[in-house]
Amino acid sequence: MISNDILYETALKQFDTVAEILNIEDGIRERMRNPKRSLIVSVPVRMDNGKTKVFKGYRVQHDITLGPSKGGIRYHPNVDLKEVSALAMLMTWKCALMHMPYGGAKGGVQCNPEEMSQDELERMTRRFTTEIVQIIGPDKDIPAPDLYTNAQTMAWMMDTYSMQQGNTIPGVVTGKPLLLGGSLGRAEGTGRGVAYMVMEAARVLYKNLRGLRVAIQGLGNVGSVAARLLNDQGCTIVAVSDISGGVYNPQGILLPYLLHHIKENKHVTGLMDTDAITNEELFELDCDVIVPAAIEGQITEKNADEIKAKIIVEGANGPTTPEADKILQDKKVFLVPDILANAGGVTVSYFEWVQDIQYYFWSEDDIQKKLKDVMIGAFNRILALSNKKGIDMRTAALMLGIGRVAEAKKMRGLYP
Ligand code: NAD
Repeated sequence: MISNDILYETALKQFDTVAEILNIEDGIRERMRNPKRSLIVSVPVRMDNGKTKVFKGYRVQHDITLGPSKGGIRYHPNVDLKEVSALAMLMTWKCALMHMPYGGAKGGVQCNPEEMSQDELERMTRRFTTEIVQIIGPDKDIPAPDLYTNAQTMAWMMDTYSMQQGNTIPGVVTGKPLLLGGSLGRAEGTGRGVAYMVMEAARVLYKNLRGLRVAIQGLGNVGSVAARLLNDQGCTIVAVSDISGGVYNPQGILLPYLLHHIKENKHVTGLMDTDAITNEELFELDCDVIVPAAIEGQITEKNADEIKAKIIVEGANGPTTPEADKILQDKKVFLVPDILANAGGVTVSYFEWVQDIQYYFWSEDDIQKKLKDVMIGAFNRILALSNKKGIDMRTAALMLGIGRVAEAKKMRGLYP
């Protein structure tokens, strides 16, 4: 795992490189390097054993030039100001790239949720929400689930915020349960977006999707939805993995068996008619498409040269190191970067917020069609810039996101 210091430095370096290419003026560059607002709070919680424990909570709003800020809340021992600041900055570029009226934010509480009871998690969520209540709201900053937070966490946040305002305000968070103003299609938005990006990349490279051999690392929420949709479109899923290891069948893995096996055994390993492989071996398989959908730092300078697939679609955040990126570019691998590939989640979150503030809810068909339009629109803009300038898709995506924020800042000017 990369350290939070390196994560933060990499985000800044990435920004500086693109700001230089775009020739962004110094004053605006300086403003974009620094978060708009960072709040650190103490979150005292009465634990089940009767003792009081104080957790550290964070909310960073990187930018609000284009609208309220938006980004997840994570519960993890690793959460600190550097991590949250880096991720908030990346959210700003992602929202701008997807043409959403948002800036980026991120937040979290430094804790070990696996050692906490549901009651403790609820008390911590309610107190954390109260500590940041001044800076969140449907017009200010809209949290969503992230690592170890889920629809229930969002329900507690929405309830706490609403109780303090005196009326029900569903639009303060997204990723809520459907009954409380959540959106149809939200749970599978990210995986569906990843599948659309594989289809688009295949269209560019092969003209046809049928029979393409796909390997997916991380068969969780994102990976399993992508696997199902790509299988439905005629792709052959040759390998999948999770934290327990991977399974491989060059003729194709039968998805109904796989899903049944996971239900019974929790993990993919041990599936009949497959060979066992490691997570490292998955990247070296003879296949056409790789979808890393697990964690960061999986494609590195150590294994990038061994990759045979011609398409990589980054479902996970930051699965490819900058060194590996260069190797893949030299090998002419078509890489759809995370900032675009996994933006289906924030896109359906945006749809949820729009539905909440209008009190008018759309059908699942509507949502899928709109998601497809937004994802393919962004893909085509990035591809056009990448072809025009002869640059990789990641740089093109960052140029579009960062360029839009810089332009908006210039138009608005500097107050006072
Ligand atoms: P998840 O917890 O549902 O699934 C993660 C999968 O990765 C699991 O199968 C797990 O076993 C596997 N895994 C974990 N550690 C691993 C390791 N060391 N090696 C191999 N496999 C490992 O998570 P998710 O929601 O599917 O998210 C996956 C990735 O997508 C993350 O990087 C996340 O940040 C990113 N992402 C998710 C969303 C979303 O809406 N869920 C949105 C944007 C980005």
